[in-house]
Amino acid sequence: MFNIFDQLNDQLLITDQVAKTQFCNAQKSIVHQHSSEKLKRYQALEQELQTFLSIATDIHAILNEHLEIISCNNGFQNILGWEESEVLKKNYVEFIDYPDAVQIITAINECKASGQVATDIAKCKCKDGKYKWIEWRGKYIANKKIHLLTGRDITLQKEQEEERLAKREAEELEMLKDEFLINMSHELKTPLNVIYMTLQLESEEIKSALEKNGQGIELNILKRHDKIIQRNVYRLLRLIRNLTEIAKLESDEYRLNFTNCDIVSIVRQISLAVADHMQSTKVKITFDTDIQELITACDPSAIEQIMLNLLSNTIKYRKDESKVRVSLTVKDNKVRVTVKDNGIGIPKTELEYIFKRFAKIDTSLNRKCEGSGTGLTVSKYLVELHEGSIWAKSQLNKGSSFIFEIPIVQISDEKDIYYGSTSQQIEEKCNIEFSDIYDI
Ligand code: ADP
Repeated sequence: MFNIFDQLNDQLLITDQVAKTQFCNAQKSIVHQHSSEKLKRYQALEQELQTFLSIATDIHAILNEHLEIISCNNGFQNILGWEESEVLKKNYVEFIDYPDAVQIITAINECKASGQVATDIAKCKCKDGKYKWIEWRGKYIANKKIHLLTGRDITLQKEQEEERLAKREAEELEMLKDEFLINMSHELKTPLNVIYMTLQLESEEIKSALEKNGQGIELNILKRHDKIIQRNVYRLLRLIRNLTEIAKLESDEYRLNFTNCDIVSIVRQISLAVADHMQSTKVKITFDTDIQELITACDPSAIEQIMLNLLSNTIKYRKDESKVRVSLTVKDNKVRVTVKDNGIGIPKTELEYIFKRFAKIDTSLNRKCEGSGTGLTVSKYLVELHEGSIWAKSQLNKGSSFIFEIPIVQISDEKDIYYGSTSQQIEEKCNIEFSDIYDI
């Protein structure tokens, strides 16, 4: 039966169908309209971006996973002189100078792993054979497996920075030279003046004694004068020795004479000889070790010189009642010698500085102690030539410890063992090393 409701329903269905079709068509037309607008917008944007990249002063490039350049702007040509055809499909690292290339590869790998933007500076090769400094920034786009890269020419900045640095270094060098000249002339003039004055006194005495037919000449006075002259000659010898040694050590001309030695005997002998040399003073030097004998290959003269420098410093920078303890221990196949004093100490900030050439904490020319600031520099070089190290610990007004360590090694085909210099040789070395300490 024809039902009014069915008829209505059918009518509605037809209307719905038409509405649906009309809606879909309208939708399609909107989508089409939208996509073509979007496409136009994208195309315009791409055009702008292309123009922007072509006028950009920086390098812009896209690299594939193997770091080959797959696209770039004309930055390569403008900055480095390479045309696009010479750059495309080439590995980006080829355009970077060797040591910097390693660093750049590390930075690229790090940025790939972290997803962060990487920045690095590298020296890059220009087509004309010159180099330019480029500051690179890069990011890895993981879903496309490409690297986006920009590079800015910072050669001018770098050159200006280098110029500034070179100027500062030259100024510092000039200052160091002036300081050195002032110091050296003081160090040379002082003993020479003393020698000159003593010789003048002596010749006056000899002259007046000659006038009295050799009468009235005081041998004791002559002997004292002799001692003063000798000490000051030693002082000059020490200064010149240290200066020549520093020059040789710094130009790699210095050679050690390695021989199998009993280092315990060498350190003990020198410590006891200095203790003897100091007998007239309140300085007490002790030597302490549990080791009877320790054979190691070293240069015995160098070890003696290091010991004499450290011991003479404990005397120079002592306070009234001076106690010095020398100890020798072995750890990790190294022999360690410690020279500890209870002297004036060194400020913490100066501890690194004292091993530098001509370093002195009190630089005033009327300072209490004489010294050229060369002893510790020579000692450091000598220890390092033994593949060892030297350092200091100190507390102001309480005292200092100077510690040096050298590896224990032996020369297998050498049978003789050296036990140290003769007491006469050590005495001569003490005379030279202690010559700038006037109150002993
Ligand atoms: P110098 O010939 O002037 O003594 P060194 O190179 O041996 O030269 O020492 C450098 C400086 O280190 C000294 O001028 C002094 O200021 C400081 N110094 C070295 N040893 C000691 C020490 N045992 N106690 C205090 N200061 C020291």
